[in-house]
Amino acid sequence: MKHTAPPRRRKLNAWGFEGVSFSPPRPLRSWLEERIGPPEPRSAVDPRSLRLPAPARLPDLPVPTSDDPADRLLHARGRGFSDLVRLRTGTLPALPDAVVRPEDATDVQEVLRICSRAGVRVIPWGGGTSVTGGVNTLPSAAPTVVLDLERLSGLVAVDARSGHARVRAGTLGPALEAALAPHRLTLGHFPQSWELSTLGGWVATRSSGQESLGFGRIEDLVAGLELVAPAGRLSLPALPASAAGPDLRQLALGSEGRFGVITEATVRVSPRPARRAVEAFLLPQWEDGVEAVREMVLAGLPLHMLRLSDPTETEVGLATGTGGHAWSPLARGWLRLRGAGPGSCLLLCGAAGTPREIRWTLGETRRLLKRYRAVSLGEGPGRRWLLDRFRHPYLRDGLFDLGWATDTLETAASWSALPGLYRAVRLVLASTLPNEEVAVLCHVSHAYRDGASLYFTFFFRDAEDPEEMIALWAALKRAATSVLPAAAGTLSHHHGIGSWHAPWYAREAGTDGVRLLAAAARELDPQGILNPHVLFDPVDRLEV
Ligand SMILES: Cc1cc2nc3c(=O)[nH]c(=O)nc-3n(C[C@H](O)[C@H](O)[C@H](O)COP(=O)(O)OP(=O)(O)OC[C@H]3O[C@@H](n4cnc5c(N)ncnc54)[C@H](O)[C@@H]3O)c2cc1C
Repeated sequence: MKHTAPPRRRKLNAWGFEGVSFSPPRPLRSWLEERIGPPEPRSAVDPRSLRLPAPARLPDLPVPTSDDPADRLLHARGRGFSDLVRLRTGTLPALPDAVVRPEDATDVQEVLRICSRAGVRVIPWGGGTSVTGGVNTLPSAAPTVVLDLERLSGLVAVDARSGHARVRAGTLGPALEAALAPHRLTLGHFPQSWELSTLGGWVATRSSGQESLGFGRIEDLVAGLELVAPAGRLSLPALPASAAGPDLRQLALGSEGRFGVITEATVRVSPRPARRAVEAFLLPQWEDGVEAVREMVLAGLPLHMLRLSDPTETEVGLATGTGGHAWSPLARGWLRLRGAGPGSCLLLCGAAGTPREIRWTLGETRRLLKRYRAVSLGEGPGRRWLLDRFRHPYLRDGLFDLGWATDTLETAASWSALPGLYRAVRLVLASTLPNEEVAVLCHVSHAYRDGASLYFTFFFRDAEDPEEMIALWAALKRAATSVLPAAAGTLSHHHGIGSWHAPWYAREAGTDGVRLLAAAARELDPQGILNPHVLFDPVDRLEV
């Protein structure tokens, strides 16, 4: 008899799966206590004890429709900062009236037709891992349903000769890789949220994975797609390249559920690498590290990952083991003797392929880094990082329990603008809260020929009152987001716009750009039922 594992249940008010956690290690707690002060432990309310408002009456829908309280709670918010605070404290301003689960594109079309006619809002939902307020149900006079694509999942077909795979949009990262494995293929798209996010969500948010340097960002991987909207359908064939007018695939990429529901995509897949290796280095200072990363990309080294931590992130990583493994004081003394003292930066260089290909790539990397006086730490820290890479997000909930708040913020800019952007964001995060210390870490998460992304993590102490806590976070988020356009940084390198960055979107796309996109949305969705607060809604909703 064949046994299949029961599906893993998601936590209702935290990141990830039930039964998995990541407690903040003691050195990290000591570091935070020293930097931002002692916390006061905060416990979360039991989500099952919450009294939920009764769901609104909905028109009959021809697909499984659930108004089960746990289902409504699980689909009320994404997994960004205020989402978790509201879920932990039971202070949700609104809940979806139902969760609907179509099985194919015809079901989706039918749900959209009926909801459009009845004035019911529809929020397309992949894995619900948005960190930009992208899937949040907000207070409204109109009923809201969440369209969960979990049943619309699986591999449809593989064209191995062309390196194409047709995949349904609701397919989760692990299921997609498992389906490609027998073909010895991989998509190679590994965002940190990989275990819980979907192909459709990646396409709708222009996602980037940890190995996008090697395999490409999601927009490089999409060859064709299908999108179903209340008033139309886009069926864009898989083509290697085309000069047939503007590329409509780009309208779906980053559309965040506003133009329609992506029901499937044909993606470019690659041979599955036999092995992965990540070698760690310490570089004497941040500026050298940034220059080394730039040179490695321009030299065309076939690396799959480059990740450079700034001195503070390196200090935390080496002391606590969160960026690899913890280094004893003796080992750190040895590193200092070799020129990697305080102020040095941890660089992770990842390669994938046959053992021979990896040896060659890392050999060339070492040769190039010699000129930057890099000290190799070997493959130990990288092995640890690979093992823990999908566990790290659980740390945030452990910190919440202890009374420390943390969030992340990411952007990108040209190489010329990068140093100014780094300084501006660090300064604004560290100086915005008048009565609280904020600790700021940063790493270069992705690098390109013309620039790189910066990924900031910041910590501050929780407030007891959830509204006060969200207000502190919103003040930091507002201040940091406001400096991005002025410092030539994008509003987002890979998280997207959602409802939280929407008030700033016109600064990047221009008012005419936003007008053009809003007109396209009106054509496809004349009643404006699809995820109406993302992308173009200029109202600041950080505190909702
Ligand atoms: C801990 C953590 C780590 C993360 N790490 C990364 C990372 O490394 N890289 C990265 O890029 N992002 C990352 N994210 C952000 C998030 O995982 C991505 O934005 C991801 O692409 C969202 O996928 P999802 O399936 O969960 O989409 P959802 O969160 O369900 O939806 C996101 C947006 O897309 C829309 N949408 C979803 N599916 C469809 C569809 N089929 N058709 C139309 N619209 C749709 C939704 O309406 C919403 O606007 C992280 C988030 C968390 C919480």
